[in-house]
Amino acid sequence: MDTSSLAANWADVRRRVDDACRAAGRDPAEVSVLPVSKTFGPDVVRSALSLGLHRFGENKVQEIREKAAALAGEAIEWVVIGHLQTNKAKDVARLASEVQSLDRLELAEALHHRLDIEGRQIDVLIQVKTASEETKQGLAEEDLPGFLERLQAFPSLRVRGLMTLATLSDDPEEVRACFRRLRELRDRCVAEGHDMPRLSMGMSGDFPLAIAEGATEVRIGSAIFGRRSYPGV
Ligand SMILES: *Cc1c(COP(=O)(O)O)cnc(C)c1O
Repeated sequence: MDTSSLAANWADVRRRVDDACRAAGRDPAEVSVLPVSKTFGPDVVRSALSLGLHRFGENKVQEIREKAAALAGEAIEWVVIGHLQTNKAKDVARLASEVQSLDRLELAEALHHRLDIEGRQIDVLIQVKTASEETKQGLAEEDLPGFLERLQAFPSLRVRGLMTLATLSDDPEEVRACFRRLRELRDRCVAEGHDMPRLSMGMSGDFPLAIAEGATEVRIGSAIFGRRSYPGV
């Protein structure tokens, strides 16, 4: 995609996000967009950089490695949004600015160990399973309080909020229920004294519903970068 189409898509997405905020009675400044560059190469990321974007969501560590190498020297923050295998912790600790898909203790342990070696701290969001599909990843919501408790042993992981993927459904009420559930869980964490302001929820197909339910960040791939030639999941 050329830079002018990318610029037009980006402006359109930002405008639609702002519209969704206003429709929900929210200030557009409260909601950020995380561009999801998965499956798109370094040239596309470079075009996005020229538009002033600098933070990108990726779901495969191998892709972050390749793009980070090709774009060495650029000020880019790579955000991991996909299921993470524990054996990728070393690369994540070296390359990622943030992980939004923290979903189990074993992964937290591995990340903390590697971050400690690197002398780094990163922001993390806990991915919670709000959808009923077997294939959806995430911590079971009843495990959240205990998980938060145990994460206190890993100070290199700064827990900033929650992330989810809604159910894939034609019924907007079912999708919306996932987002509402995540907000309720976050509100409960905050009431219990956790500093967890962020809610990463909503993608190209469902972000207005997520914004209506309180998303502070929407993760947008195809609406910005175009259709992926392979699904990238
Ligand atoms: C791919 C992906 C997105 C973006 O999806 P689009 O429908 O292209 O906007 C958001 N979140 C996660 C976790 C993803 O894997």
